[in-house]
Amino acid sequence: MAQRVRELRASGKEIVSLLLGEPDFPVPSLLQEAAIQAIREGYAPYPPVPGLSSLREAIASYYHKHYGLPFEPSQVVVSNGSKQAIYNALLSILEPGDEVIVPAPYWVSYIPLIQLAEGVPVVVSTTPAEGYKLTPEKLAQRLSSRSCAIILCSPSNPTGSAYTPAELSSLAEVLESYPKVWIISDEIYELIRYGGKHFSPAQVPPLYERTIVCNGFSKAFAMPGWRLGYLIAPLPVAQAAIKVQGQTTAGANIIAQKAALAGLQDDIHRLVEPMISAFRERRDWIYEYITQHLPEMAPYLPDGAFYFFLDIAAFIGRSTAKGKVIQSADDIAEYLLEEGVGVVSGTGFGSKRHIRISYAVSLASIQEGMQRMMRALRALA
Ligand code: PMP
Repeated sequence: MAQRVRELRASGKEIVSLLLGEPDFPVPSLLQEAAIQAIREGYAPYPPVPGLSSLREAIASYYHKHYGLPFEPSQVVVSNGSKQAIYNALLSILEPGDEVIVPAPYWVSYIPLIQLAEGVPVVVSTTPAEGYKLTPEKLAQRLSSRSCAIILCSPSNPTGSAYTPAELSSLAEVLESYPKVWIISDEIYELIRYGGKHFSPAQVPPLYERTIVCNGFSKAFAMPGWRLGYLIAPLPVAQAAIKVQGQTTAGANIIAQKAALAGLQDDIHRLVEPMISAFRERRDWIYEYITQHLPEMAPYLPDGAFYFFLDIAAFIGRSTAKGKVIQSADDIAEYLLEEGVGVVSGTGFGSKRHIRISYAVSLASIQEGMQRMMRALRALA
């Protein structure tokens, strides 16, 4: 869709894009300065495969300070983005044919990453009434002797929902009978919360020993192009991940590591607060707007991240002015693009009846985009 938007814009069409998965904020200046200084010093060695020891220490102490988790720096493996951290984790734990439970809607890359690691994704659907979260009952139904891991994403891309301590504890009770199942916890939106504090599965005592935390700097520090993420895992998994990474990409960009280190050494909440309060204002505006003008989309008020996942089932079967019958989320996304607003179809996230909109764009663009969306959907016959 991003490519389509670029093409349409190049041909002179004016499009409001609500597609983006990257914050519309600059990298905090403190991090920029740290990177510039490292470059000016001519600092350019091959990075250690698992990351600079100072950065691994800072990541471990961040999790200790904020979440009370006693991780050791040796458990931290710094990668080229959290996507690589998730892939490293999967390559480290999966045998061919092992199953990985993935609650849907899910982030688009989980399924292909599991398949690349020769695992078998087991998709478990969730409902809006469940807050799009895996319930203990559904987890119990899908666990088997072939299960190797579950992937949880909290706060979630695409729904914005976040697991509470009680919900994670009830999943932990079910997992008690499956002691070999890992929890891959994608925490990349951990700092982007609107009330309520992030809670990691690793904070549930029985899950501590088997949680692989995957996180990164693309969202909180608005530096997706600098490609920096990490995993924190029980030592044998961390060591396997280091071996995998050592023979694939080796260590991550050393300049980005210097910048991230400066960020972690500062007051992180102070650094990210301006961005979070802008996201909160946009989230609240969109929620109000949809509740008033498009209530059939049943918006879920996001706990975190910067997306709405909207139900388009009410529009299926209706026709556009050109006579095309809308049959799926893909059709809606295509139609909305023709009407000047770019959204992502839910298909890649595991739902044909949803679209995702991002509010990592200015409030003015959001307002224009939502009005276009409303007019276009109301024009369907
Ligand atoms: N997990 C989720 C849920 C994401 O939304 C993203 C980025 N869109 C990633 C992982 C990967 O982020 P990165 O590789 O940039 O750290």
